[in-house]
Amino acid sequence: MKFLQPCYIWSVLKRAREFVFFRSGSTLLVYLVLLVASVCGAVTLRAGEALAPYSSTECAALVDRYRTMKRGDLERQHEMFAMREVDLNRQLNDPANHAADSKRSILIQIERTQQELDILRAFIPKKTQKNKQAFSFDRYKPLLDSMWVRWGFLALLVFIFLFVRRRSRRKQGSTLPAPDQPTHNQCKVENTLDGAMPIHDIQAYAEYVLLKSPKGYSELIELIFGQAIAWHASDIHMQRTKDCFEIQYRIDGELLDICKVESYRAKEVVSVIKVMASLKFDRSTTALDGRISYGLEERTYDLRISIIPTLGAEKVVIRLFDADQSPYDLGTLGFSEKTSEYWTASLRNRHGLLMVVGPAGSGKTTTIYSSLLHIKAMQSGLNVITLEDPVEHRLEGITQIQIDAERGMNYETAFTNILRQDPEVVMLGEIRSPAVARLAVRAGHTGHLVISTVHSFSTLGAFDRLLELGAEGYNLYNSLIAVLGQRLVKKVCPHCAQPYQPEDRLVAAAAEYIDVSGVCWLRGAGCDLCMGRGYRERIVIDEIIHLNPVARNRLSSLGTQSERRELLREQRNHSLWQDGVNKAATGLTTLEEVALMLGDMTESEPGEVPPKEDRQPIATQ
Ligand SMILES: [Zn+2]
Repeated sequence: MKFLQPCYIWSVLKRAREFVFFRSGSTLLVYLVLLVASVCGAVTLRAGEALAPYSSTECAALVDRYRTMKRGDLERQHEMFAMREVDLNRQLNDPANHAADSKRSILIQIERTQQELDILRAFIPKKTQKNKQAFSFDRYKPLLDSMWVRWGFLALLVFIFLFVRRRSRRKQGSTLPAPDQPTHNQCKVENTLDGAMPIHDIQAYAEYVLLKSPKGYSELIELIFGQAIAWHASDIHMQRTKDCFEIQYRIDGELLDICKVESYRAKEVVSVIKVMASLKFDRSTTALDGRISYGLEERTYDLRISIIPTLGAEKVVIRLFDADQSPYDLGTLGFSEKTSEYWTASLRNRHGLLMVVGPAGSGKTTTIYSSLLHIKAMQSGLNVITLEDPVEHRLEGITQIQIDAERGMNYETAFTNILRQDPEVVMLGEIRSPAVARLAVRAGHTGHLVISTVHSFSTLGAFDRLLELGAEGYNLYNSLIAVLGQRLVKKVCPHCAQPYQPEDRLVAAAAEYIDVSGVCWLRGAGCDLCMGRGYRERIVIDEIIHLNPVARNRLSSLGTQSERRELLREQRNHSLWQDGVNKAATGLTTLEEVALMLGDMTESEPGEVPPKEDRQPIATQ
């Protein structure tokens, strides 16, 4: 090694000094010391670096490497490092390695090995480190063989089954579908009818209730009441026929068969109703009247019970009133535009006579109630008094008086009495007697607004009827402001409406009022939502005779009945027929339904009394 010989190095350095830098030996010495120091420092630094434990970045690299390794490899790696640790510990204790440097190096290597082991342990799943004893069924076999455990297990299963069954039942509530009914159908109807069942389901469910518990009459009654409310029935009829006990609902004015139960159950069902209405249930030979306040889903319904003994068994009729009914609103009753306009104009008067006519069940009470509330809303602070038989619904802010003839409170005396209480508006349930007719007309003439009904089928007939009852003609012509005639016709069910061609005679009759070419007539085909009837809910058809002061003057100046009749006809906006045909043409109802409500198609107005020229001339002043 010629290059490492000191004399050689010295000669090289000497030559180098001569060649470039060094002018004195001392400068060279300083340079040399610096060089040696830096070389030693670098070596020491490297050695130190090489022997340090793993830094955090190195640990992270290790973690990354082990993460991708399989479990078997990890375990092998772990074993290897464990052996190395043992080996390094042995080296540490070896007297040959007692030099400080080697000892330090071994310690660092031990530390590194331990770091590796720590990381590896984190990756080897814990359960492999635990004992790997497999589950053994044999260990539990004696326990399962025990009789008590077996029975206990069985009891637990039964309990879970019963609990689940009970929960699912409670969720469905009292409208549990009969077992043989398709449930999808049920859901569909419930969504749109608020709990109403299709009609065949009511029968099936009634049978199911009685099958489940042969004495489940209260559940049956709840079903009947609940479904009547859901279907918006106005009455429930129950009667015994030859071989069964029949339950019917009146919906939209039509009596429909709902369900039948065995005839021997009639007595029990009627008894349950009597108990609910607090009637004497042992009495079956006299007519009974009662009431039930029936709560359903936070609403209260007033059920008026009438029981009459018949030849077979007692017949029960229950009328349903919604005690929490939404407010009566004139705008929602479906009056035609002109009628609505004239009628609301008439309600602005503070004296005069307003009549609403139509047969029973034509919605007169609803119209009158809505009108009274309309008057109240237009002008507060009015004294509004009603005389009714019976009071059908409580109206807020209106004094309502129940007619009770037995206690001397008939229309005549009550009317005379209330006029002393200075009312602005008086409503009379019905003008039936000559005395009341005279009083009403006079009151209308002397500064009260009187609203009433009279038994007549048409607006024109109302005049004749009032005159027949003995109303004084002069007062009548001067006080009568308007006569509103109305009927309720069934609306075509919007869910199953489809075009059809009505009978020729009906179309021909309609052609007198409208151009029938191009009219798309609609009728319902029948669906679950309308009980297969094709109709759902009702709409009003109307006519109005509206008399302004000029017309009233002319009316009282005319001499004969036929002239007056002609004038009244001129003052009428349209006839019931015309309105019915208009509504049928727009698909709201059908011509058949209009014809059914208004009687056969004849030239004369429905229910109109033919003019009689020979009638006694009306006294005019
Ligand atoms: Zn329908």
